[in-house]
Amino acid sequence: MKVLKFGGTSVGSVENMANVKEIINDGESKIVVLSAMSGTTNNLVEIANNIKASHPKKALEIINDLSQKYTVVIDKLLQNERLNTSTKNYISKRFNFLIECTDKLFSQVLENEILAQGELMSTFMFNAYLKEQGISSVVLPALDFMRIDKNKEPSFAYITKNINSILNAVDTAQIYITQGFICLDDTDKVSNLQRGGSDYTATIIGAAIKAEEVQIWTDIDGMHNNDPRFVEGTKPISDLSFDEAAELAYFGAKILHPQTVLPVREDGIPVRLKNTMDPQAKGTSITSSHFETGIKAIAAKDNITAIKIKSGRMLQAHGFLKKVFEIFETYKTSIDMITTSEVAVSLTIDDDSSLDKIISELKTFASIEVDKNQSIICLVGHSIVNHEGTYRLFKILKDVKVRMISYGGSNNNISLLVDTKNKIPTLQKLNNYLFELVSL
Ligand code: ASP
Repeated sequence: MKVLKFGGTSVGSVENMANVKEIINDGESKIVVLSAMSGTTNNLVEIANNIKASHPKKALEIINDLSQKYTVVIDKLLQNERLNTSTKNYISKRFNFLIECTDKLFSQVLENEILAQGELMSTFMFNAYLKEQGISSVVLPALDFMRIDKNKEPSFAYITKNINSILNAVDTAQIYITQGFICLDDTDKVSNLQRGGSDYTATIIGAAIKAEEVQIWTDIDGMHNNDPRFVEGTKPISDLSFDEAAELAYFGAKILHPQTVLPVREDGIPVRLKNTMDPQAKGTSITSSHFETGIKAIAAKDNITAIKIKSGRMLQAHGFLKKVFEIFETYKTSIDMITTSEVAVSLTIDDDSSLDKIISELKTFASIEVDKNQSIICLVGHSIVNHEGTYRLFKILKDVKVRMISYGGSNNNISLLVDTKNKIPTLQKLNNYLFELVSL
């Protein structure tokens, strides 16, 4: 069986839902993972933020506007009176729940329950729509099988056992619909797989049912070789290996949630990125194979903090790095890039919530410099470290102020750290010279 995930834009309008119906209605049985309608999760975040800030009136205004939007969509989507009424009843229960939340004390659990409403609504509506279209479908509630442990990692054994027994127990249907993003935590409270987490839901399910393939349907024709939001002349990449895709997703390629390929990599279950607005376009296939060597794609990750830790002697003072790493371990802060010299080590983090505490501990044995607003630019490709064309990178960078460079950590990745204000020109320059093959 295949698992197909459709993002917010794909279910964001009645026309797009009709496209999704065409794509999935090919006679094969499949699991369809849906995001919330586009914009909804952002609105839910705003609602939660307003409750947190004790602005219930503002929260109610957003709830009211969103609810009106849903009524319009339902009236356009469902002509059958019975389905139209039952769907409106369900959706108004969701909105009543949101209204009740505006009177409650804010907590993380409350926020997670608020954020879960988008996927609950989109799946209910889409299921009703398929029924109206005469397609047999059933909703598999994600909260019955999707769970994370206390480290916020998927509980694979639990998920595998539960989704397979649910699939065996429900009536046979052509389409099994489920909610992306939402899950329970280790204490059975509603939680989620972080923003954009529906991709991750799809590959977790793919691994749990040993799917033939996972397809991620978005509104762009696959993973591009550079960030199309900032760079002109980017192109879709037709094939990527799991390693390449994992690096790109982690280092900022917005099309995929950072953890997406991890669950399916071991079993070699292919992931295909497809475009709902142009289903014939080839998209990107992510598999275990490496098709070519050399720099294939570039991604960038913002909000990076660089920390330089300077001590009289570092390399021969054994135990120095251990002392440094233990501090980051204590504050559960992971390090992305690292470079060393005899007297100093520079490293980067993207979660700076414990920065002050980390710095004050580091200061007990070293002098510290901190640079905020940095971006990691990550160049990815199979065996790029050994590829003959890679030298061009250093020529291109001759006028770029690079704060750190990480080369050789793996054969597939070269990372540069630049000030975020230099990110876009650097990305464009790299694109022009590396992919458009403008001569240097
Ligand atoms: N609806 C969630 C979000 O907007 C999850 C997703 O779409 O993947 O982040």
